[in-house]
Order: sequence, then structure tokens, then C-alpha cells
Amino acid sequence: MAINKTAYHSIKKELDLQEVLLVAVSKTKPVEDILELYNLGHRDFGENYVQELLEKAKQLPNDIRWHFIGHLQTNKVKLIVSFVQLIHGVDSLKLLKEINKEAGKSGRIVDCLLQVHIAQEETKFGFDEKELNDVQMSGYANVQIKGLMGMASFTDDMDKVRTEFRNLKNLFDKQAQLQTSNFKPQILSVGMSSDYKIAIEEGSNMVRIGSLLFGTRG
Ligand SMILES: *Cc1c(COP(=O)(O)O)cnc(C)c1O
Repeated sequence: MAINKTAYHSIKKELDLQEVLLVAVSKTKPVEDILELYNLGHRDFGENYVQELLEKAKQLPNDIRWHFIGHLQTNKVKLIVSFVQLIHGVDSLKLLKEINKEAGKSGRIVDCLLQVHIAQEETKFGFDEKELNDVQMSGYANVQIKGLMGMASFTDDMDKVRTEFRNLKNLFDKQAQLQTSNFKPQILSVGMSSDYKIAIEEGSNMVRIGSLLFGTRG
């Protein structure tokens, strides 16, 4: 399997113009594919399983910025906290506390995004608005909350997706006004292969794209 270089160049150009950061989601794809994209100058990659991330990270150049985009279990935090660039899916206070603790042990301040529950489905993880306000008030010295992350409902109804993204952007703007020392929302991580254009129209400034670059996953 090879990467789609044409798609990469055109998406990258489109995103650069709009000052949106591209996280290339390389989950399930081999290190050779990641290297191909790396050799085109790309550095931000997203993975969603801890073991897979560790395996890949040790085989690949260490100037790659690894984004953890999946559901992170608290007992795995210590495995990635020393090197991860940004943890996108912080979906509970318990997880945030664990990251804070382990970050402290490794002498780092770890950048995180709080995952917000925007989809109507019950299965998605994340905070609601009230919980976000509580998190904001709680100061954790070793985490820096850089913004919010969300995933739309799994649906073909793009109007519904757009509405969910819009609601998240409104929430993001509200949160951004209430900055505290470790809560400074600047990043809004929304949008994947199927909906990134809508996400950007609705204010996203970081998209996580996998299959358009690496091909569909088996
Ligand atoms: C897999 C994944 C993506 C990328 O999905 P594509 O449809 O392949 O672009 C983005 N975000 C998260 C959280 C993912 O797990």
C-alpha cells in the first residue's frame, strides 16, 4: 500500500491557505507509509492505540509529532506521556488527573484537548458544557488544556454534522473567553476525511485525516 501523494499535496495546500493544521491519521498503516509522508515533509501524525503508537515511534524519526487521538485508558497514560505532542481525546476528569500526575513525574507539561460530546449517539465519550466549566476551574500544573476536540454523529446527514460542529464552535468561543492559567482554548480539533471541509467552514483549525491520505483501512 502506498500513500496518495496527490491527495496529500492538494489537501495540505488547501489547509495551509486556511491556517488549519493537518494531523495525518496513520492508525493501522505500516511505518513505510508514514515514512513516505514524512519524506514529503510531514511531521504531525495521529494514532489511537497506545501499543501501536509505541511500536511505530521507536522505529521512526524522533522529530515526528505524535498526536494521540483515541480513547486513552488511564493505566496507559504513563507509556506515552514523556513524548506525546498532544492528547486529543481527554474525556474524563479521572483521565486528566492521571495525565497531570504522570506528566509531573516525567517533568513535562503535556498539551491536551478536552473531548466534547457533540454527537447524539450515546456511545461517544466526552464532556458536556457544565463539566467543561468544572474542569476549567480546576488547576492542574502539569497539563495545558489547549482546546477542544469533537466527533460528529456517524451519519450521511451532512446538515446534522454541520449543526453539531457549529454547536461545538459556539461552546469553544464561550470557553475561550473564560481563560484560566492552564486553560487556554486555541485549538479546535474537528473534522475527518468525510467531513473536514464542513468542519473548517464551521471553525475547525485542526483536522484529523486518515483514509484520504493512506487509503481505506481493512
Ligand atoms: C480514525 C480516526 C480519524 C480519521 O478518520 P478518516 O475517516 O480515516 O479520516 C480521525 N479521528 C479519530 C478520532 C479517529 O479515530
